[in-house]
Order: sequence, then structure tokens, then C-alpha cells
Amino acid sequence: MRIRLLLTLVGALFFNFTLHAVEGMWLPLLLKELNEKEMKAMGMRISADDLYAINQTSLKDAVFIFGGGCTSEMISDQGLILTNHHCGYGQIQSHSSLQNDYLKYGFWAKTKEDELPNKGLTATRIVRMENVTEMVLDGAIRQDGSVNQQVLDANIKRVVAQSVSGTHYEASVKPFYYGNEYYLFVTETFKDVRLVGTPPSFIGKFGGDTDNWMWPRHTGDFALFRIYADANNKPAEYASSNRPYKPLHHFPVSIKGVQENDFTLVYGFPGRTQQYLPSPMVSLTMNDLNPIRIKIRSKALQVIDEAMASADELRIKYAAKQSRISNAYKKWIGENRGLKKLDALTVKKLIEDQFSQKVKGSSYEPLLSQFDEWVATFRYYALANDYYNELIFSGPEIIRYAYNYVKFMKNYDDLKAKGELDKTIESLRTGAEGYFKNYDMITDKKIMMAVLPLFIEGIDKSMGPDYMFDEIIRFKNNYDAFVNNLFSISIFSSKEKVLSFLNTINDKSALKIKSDPAYRMAESIYTSYFNKVSDKYDETNQRIQNGMFHYMKALRQFLPDIRKYYPDANSTLRVSYGRVEGYSPQDGTWYHWQTTIDGIMAKYVPDDTEFDLDQRYISLYQQRQFGRYASGQSLPVAFIASNHTTGGNSGSPVLNAHGHLIGINFDRTWESTMSDIMYDPERCRNISCDMRYVLWVIDVYAGASHLVNEMTIVQ
Ligand code: ASP
Repeated sequence: MRIRLLLTLVGALFFNFTLHAVEGMWLPLLLKELNEKEMKAMGMRISADDLYAINQTSLKDAVFIFGGGCTSEMISDQGLILTNHHCGYGQIQSHSSLQNDYLKYGFWAKTKEDELPNKGLTATRIVRMENVTEMVLDGAIRQDGSVNQQVLDANIKRVVAQSVSGTHYEASVKPFYYGNEYYLFVTETFKDVRLVGTPPSFIGKFGGDTDNWMWPRHTGDFALFRIYADANNKPAEYASSNRPYKPLHHFPVSIKGVQENDFTLVYGFPGRTQQYLPSPMVSLTMNDLNPIRIKIRSKALQVIDEAMASADELRIKYAAKQSRISNAYKKWIGENRGLKKLDALTVKKLIEDQFSQKVKGSSYEPLLSQFDEWVATFRYYALANDYYNELIFSGPEIIRYAYNYVKFMKNYDDLKAKGELDKTIESLRTGAEGYFKNYDMITDKKIMMAVLPLFIEGIDKSMGPDYMFDEIIRFKNNYDAFVNNLFSISIFSSKEKVLSFLNTINDKSALKIKSDPAYRMAESIYTSYFNKVSDKYDETNQRIQNGMFHYMKALRQFLPDIRKYYPDANSTLRVSYGRVEGYSPQDGTWYHWQTTIDGIMAKYVPDDTEFDLDQRYISLYQQRQFGRYASGQSLPVAFIASNHTTGGNSGSPVLNAHGHLIGINFDRTWESTMSDIMYDPERCRNISCDMRYVLWVIDVYAGASHLVNEMTIVQ
């Protein structure tokens, strides 16, 4: 009985029995061949060529990678791009201070001169992509099926060089299907991207962590930036003489509205999925790694949340860090729940049973049992790796900061010999200004007190930092005493002390820094990570990746019909499509596909950090001033649809059947978060902010109509 039920689930998952959701993140250049028919049957009115073409402009020319890992879209012919508030959060925060609290009150540039430059921020367009598998693998696969990495790397280098020669473009080649295929991406990267507008956090982050990853949702998660180019419309470093970029295409914005079952398409850069992992890897993620990450982050977040609630200054300082830590934390909790609900391990094992039968007698026969062995060894290093990762990146910042000085001291003599000491000291000085701007010693100390015991007691002794174990024993297992002592003695807990060290540095005083307790802690942690974990982690992981190369190849060869084998997300341009539709999160409950401003008012809690509103917003609501953005009596805020998305799709354009912008993707529902590993068409939904709400905020609430006037509105 149970087996029959699971087989039905496998069928539902892989054959898409529901006519609605379509699993997959598809390569734009293959849409014509693989998806166009289905997309048109679902209601799409444009063609695959409209979405992606290289000899004429196409919709892809209006989609940009935003910064390191988000998507943005062009919405005017003057370089105006739209992305998520949470994607521009770091920039918004860096322009914010107690005097100019853009996080709290929002920011709207009245003229182009008021737009704010952002050092290091880029926006990248895909010029073209191409399947280069043959060229990359030429001579790179040995007789025994293994890959000759040197030949492969040389091939890639050649393909890349040829593709950009004589242009200002850049290019990269990325592996697909664990290296069974390779695609070339030629890109154009703009380096002058300025902040144009952001709503206040009570709109852009409405609902905070409580609502993050949740439906029903009411977050106005958007921000506006503008790409600037040189006089020839080419990318250039920031210069006040740069001009707004003239794009090849910008999306018309539709305020005609969205209906249930409407066709929708998400065009963006999904970051990472792992749909084809065998069961031991899924088990490792679910049962071992996610719990470690969740445990450590929950402790760090308790401290940060308390600090942020206690003072405006701390709220600003920790805003971006808190978001980064809590976003993944909550996702992993949802992911584990979803995988359990899908009985993912059993589903995987059923596929593996079929696989084993099919590959009997072939060279793939031992593959699955090899995975068991490989994962067992990898697990050992993966656990340690995560402990270090979480301590260093979600734990006290002082460790990461002090490590800069460990590196500095390692190179001290060298820098001196090369005459580069002064320059390096100067950059450490600038670094200190930036670092301490967002640092609070008391909070960091509390984070260390909360997180360090989990690290020391959780990590396998053979892979931890011996010095730290000894120190804790020296302090008789009294972590608080250890931490108090460290923060009171170390210079790295105070900007003044760091600057005074740098200002008076000489060979003798430099040497003294080596006995600073934070320095010693950082040195021992990083050294033991590099000596005991990182190489072994890479080596054992590489074995699994090689195994995945073969597993993926064999799955497609021996079980071609059990599912559609779209390539896992890898931060390359993809199209997902589906419909506007609700879902049932649990027995007896049905979620409607749309939310409105009435829901915002229902959630409103005066003075709450997550659910507050301002007076202007409330009175616009009370007077029902929704202008042309209204739908019936209310104002639509967000909608869900069955587009398969992941992190990196944040900020992606959500298009209707005509290729017009109807929403901006910003999240998935909590019941969807396992879709990075296993997608469920019945429950996986992406969350988009309705463009009518975005325009209402800009136009009516903020009075920045000049920005709406730049756009092409379809009504
Ligand atoms: N809000 C999500 C993120 O920031 C986007 C997603 O994963 O769907 O990662």
C-alpha cells in the first residue's frame, strides 16, 4: 500500500500529472526545441524567439544579474532597473545613517543627480550563450571515462578567448549536468549602478522574519537602481559624466492585472539546485548538515534580534547581517520539513532501485554502492566544514576580522622588503573604518558566548582547533570567562585600539600582536581549518562530483522517460513557467493566490519592528487612494504562481503571456523550499510582488511619479 502511494508520488513528481505546474529551470536557447509547444498550450502568446535571440533584440536583453547573486530587469529606456529590496539591502544600508535613515524612511532621488553611486555594484547582461560541449570535451575524456582536467581547462580557456576577442565583453564556460555538457556565456558588465529609490523598510521588508518565506505575504520587496554607461553606451567605472544606459529592450509594465490560472514566466538567474542527488547525499543534507546550520544560526540570531530591537543604531548596523543569516536559517527549516513530507529519501530510493535494475551488467552497476562509501567519508569532513563555516560566517565577527591581521603578519617581512608596508597599513586603516561602522562589541561578544560552545562541543575533536580546546580547558570550561577575557584584552574589539596599533606600528609592536587573544583564536581556527578540513573536504567532495558526472549520464541514458532532465540551476540565465495558482499547505487549508492591502492593514501592529506602518500609508489606505492601480475595491499586493524558482531568482521579472512585466519575484512559500532538492507541483509556489503595488508605492505613496513616467505602462 505504502509502496503504491509512493509510486504515485514519484509519478506525480516526475510526469507532471497536474496540468498546471511545470517543474524546471530551462535554458533560453533551448526553449524552442524543448518547451515552446507546452508554453503556448499554457497560454503564452509570444514565441521562444521573442524570449531569446542573438541576431535581434529579445527579452533576454532586459534581464540583468544584479550584484553577486540576484536578478534585475530593465523597466525604462533610460537604464532604470528593478530588483528586490532585499537584493539592494546592502547598498541601502551602506547609504543609511542616523541622519539619513533610508532603511527606515526610504529614499527617492528627485533627479538623476541625486542618484547614489555604489562602489563594487555591477549589473550584467547576457549577450549570447552557446553549447560548447564538443569543443570543451575534445580530448578531455580518458579511455576509462575519467576527465583530464588539464585538457578540459585549456579547451575552456581557448573557447573563452575566441569568443570575446576584439570586443569589450567577458565570457565564461559553465558545466551543466555535472560536466556532461558545457555552455559558453558572453556577458556585458556595467560597473556604474546607482540607487534611485527604495521604499521604507516597513514596506520593503513588511512582515520581517516572521513573514519571510511565508504565504499569505504582503512585502513590497522592491528597489530601483539605474545603470550608467560612457558616452558610447558602453560599460565604464563610475564617473559623474556617465550617462543613463540606453538598453536594447525594456519591459513594458502591465497594470491590467493578474487572474487565477494566467500563464506566467520567470526570467532570471537561479543560483543552485540539486535535483539529481542520490539518497545518501539527500540524507546528509537533511539529517546532518541542515541541523548544524539551524542550531548555530538560531543562537546567533537570538542575540542579534535582541540587539536590533534595543536601539536604532544597532538596528542599522546589524540589518544586512541579520537578513543574510536569518534568510538561509529559515529556509533550511522549511526545506527539511518539505523533504520529510515528500518522504524524499524513499522517493529517491525507488528511483535508485529502478536505476540498479537497468544498469545491471554495465559499468554503472557499482555506482550507487560507491556513493554510499564516498558519502560516508565526505560526511566526516562536511560536518566539520559546516561547523567552521557557521562559526566564521554566522558567528562573532572578531574572528574573521582578526584573521586579516594574521595574513598581514604572515606577509609582514615580504611587504617590507617590497616597500609595500605603508600601503598595506593604509588599507587596513580604511578597512577598520568600514568594519567598525557596522560593529558593536557587546553584541559580538554575546554572539561568541552563544555560538562558541556549540562549535567546540559539536565539532569532531580530531578536526577542531587544538589551541581553542586547550584554552577552554584553561578557563575550566567557563566560556563566558574565556570570552570576557578575550574581548577585554584584544585590540580587535575596538576601533581606537586597532587604529592606535596601526598608527604606531613598528617591527617590535607588530610582533606583539601575535599574542593578542583574538589573533591567536583566529590563527588557530583558520589554520586548523586549512590543515585538517579544507583539502580533505574538497578531495572527498570531488569524488562525489565525479560520481555525479557518471550518475547523471547514466540516468539520462538508462531512465530517459522517468522525468524531464533539465539542468540544475547554476546561476545562469533560465526561464521557468507556470500559472497563477493557489495551493494547500496542509490538510483542510487552501491558500488563495492573491493578497491585497487589506491584508496589510489586518497585520498592522503599531510600533512593531515587523508590522508597523506610517501615518501617510494608513491615511492613503483609509481614503482608498489606489488610483489606477486598484483592482475592484482594493489594491493587489502579491501573488503566487507555480514557477520553479530558487535563490538568485530574487528580483526576477515575472511576465505575462505577452512578455509584459506583471510582478517581481522575491520568494517562495515555506512549503516550497525543498524544491531545490525535490520539486512538488502540488505545493511549490513562487511569490511575486504585484507591479500594481510597486507602482502605487512609487507613484502614490512616495510621489515619485517622474519614475513611473519613464516606464512604458500597458493598461
Ligand atoms: N527569497 C529567496 C532568497 O532570497 C528567493 C528564493 O529562494 O525563492 O533566497
